[in-house]
Amino acid sequence: MSQERKISQTFSTSIEVVSLSKYIYADNAATTKLDDKALEAMLPWLREYYGNASQPYSFAREPKKALADARATIATCINAEPEEIFFTSGGTESDNWVIKGRAFSDSSYRATVTSSFEHHAVLRSCAAIEQLRYPVAYMLPTNAGYILPETLRSVITNQTGLVSVMYANNELGSIQPIRKLCDVAHAHGALFHTDAVQVVGHVKIDVRDLGVDFLSASAHKFNGPKGVGFLYVRKGCRILPYADGGAQEFGLRAGTENIAGIVGMATALKVNCDQIKENEDQLRSLEQIIIKRLDTSGILYFRNGGEHTLPGLISLSFPGKDGEAILHRLDLMGICISTGSACDSKKTEISHVLRAIRLDNSAALGTVRVSLGKYNMPEEAEKIAEALIKVCGC
Ligand code: PLP
Repeated sequence: MSQERKISQTFSTSIEVVSLSKYIYADNAATTKLDDKALEAMLPWLREYYGNASQPYSFAREPKKALADARATIATCINAEPEEIFFTSGGTESDNWVIKGRAFSDSSYRATVTSSFEHHAVLRSCAAIEQLRYPVAYMLPTNAGYILPETLRSVITNQTGLVSVMYANNELGSIQPIRKLCDVAHAHGALFHTDAVQVVGHVKIDVRDLGVDFLSASAHKFNGPKGVGFLYVRKGCRILPYADGGAQEFGLRAGTENIAGIVGMATALKVNCDQIKENEDQLRSLEQIIIKRLDTSGILYFRNGGEHTLPGLISLSFPGKDGEAILHRLDLMGICISTGSACDSKKTEISHVLRAIRLDNSAALGTVRVSLGKYNMPEEAEKIAEALIKVCGC
């Protein structure tokens, strides 16, 4: 199918025609474009070396080595040991595994503490263990979108077994004080998990410096393929197997490995980690183009997420405007942004994240998320700002 195919043909509606090649993609928090090097690295494992890594014959040797190399590459990128990296199908599985795997790993399991603005992969896993009578406490973030160590101190008890706080919020971009939260958890004898799905491959991560016990990541958020991710499990931390079956992933996550996906993930992560500072600088300058244009436009707006945000993620509230209408108007202009997290973008309700930070209804309903990525160019940032001004200024 041609890149130049018109979007209107896909849906057979009469919407304004935008050529796919001219589309400005600014929803990188939902998913990212596959890096060409990752794609190239994946192809041999789909075409030629399709052997099952668990088999004893020599045709399995190459896939087995590819798995080991990918595990080592990923471990190096986050300063972990290869045996601490467990391949999964993505962020959702990694989050489910930790929350449920910790609760079910110990018959005397105690309580979980999390935050009320986690991704649904964590929140719904917590709801599932609550159904089985494992207590869960939910911390509220500040209005700017941060979980403070003192908030954790006020709810954590010696009964807490696991604390789970996301590294950066996917709607606001706010980066949490993970090291400090981790220290509070450990001081109370609890283990610490962070959902780092929005952060891995975008900001330098050192699991030893952070002190976390578990960390979730997803390849498609850092220019890798969809349907693959990993869970970091610090050596010595007990967790129940996620899937029972074969002996893959050190006996903790059964299932024939997705070698091409795993190789693509490791390649994409290495590419991004090798140029993490350059990417961050580029994204900060793109952000500034949009913010400066909005500031000088005279439009009523504010930015959410406080002082410490992910590079390129901008949550903007236009009080009195309709975020969904903004999204659709920009879509017709060939610009792809979001109103909230990808999973919620079909709903018109205020997202649980914006509720958690107590944004008033008028601002919350007029909130959109622009999330830029390494392939965005300055002229695209200009066009996004112009489009927002045009749509929100009338
Ligand atoms: N956690 C966060 C913070 C996310 O943003 C997402 C996806 O949007 C997920 C988890 C789920 O990841 P995946 O799409 O790989 O299942």
